[in-house]
Amino acid sequence: MRAKSILTEAKQIERAITLIKLGARLQVLESETDLSYERLLRLYKEVAGKSPSKGQLPFSTDWFMTWQPNIHASLFLNTHEYLNKVAEMEEIDTIIKAYQLYLEQTQSQGLEPLLSVTRAWRLVKFVDNGMLTMTACSKCGGHFVTHPHEIAKHYVCGLCNPPARAGKGKASGGLQLH
Ligand SMILES: [Zn+2]
Repeated sequence: MRAKSILTEAKQIERAITLIKLGARLQVLESETDLSYERLLRLYKEVAGKSPSKGQLPFSTDWFMTWQPNIHASLFLNTHEYLNKVAEMEEIDTIIKAYQLYLEQTQSQGLEPLLSVTRAWRLVKFVDNGMLTMTACSKCGGHFVTHPHEIAKHYVCGLCNPPARAGKGKASGGLQLH
């Protein structure tokens, strides 16, 4: 059982600032803190130096299924699952930490981080809802984001089976998920 701590306001503000710096959408902040919308809006403008972008959050799981995004999402989710097991953190703090590690990993490989923190947050929600899961690749054994009913016996990941147009190993920049 994870102890549900009552966050002090200072802790909530700190968390909101971290998320804003990582580029989170305002909806993420609203969902993950108890701060008022007005407060968050002010904070956002202060920290980001601009107004938050309007419009809806991405609702679809499709993005995570496309080739390169799937590799990035899988990299993040592997880290997230690992932290979830070993660290006693609240879910949003696990997301923040896993996302920071994802940024470090992509930077060290000289890759553009395709996964935004908002999408990473969304991904964890999709996994919580059972709309997405992870399946082990039948070739390399790495765990990748898939729909829940993927048949593991036949599943081959995007690193083992890149689309024909992609130079092998190029887009993934040598990322390893196993
Ligand atoms: Zn594979």
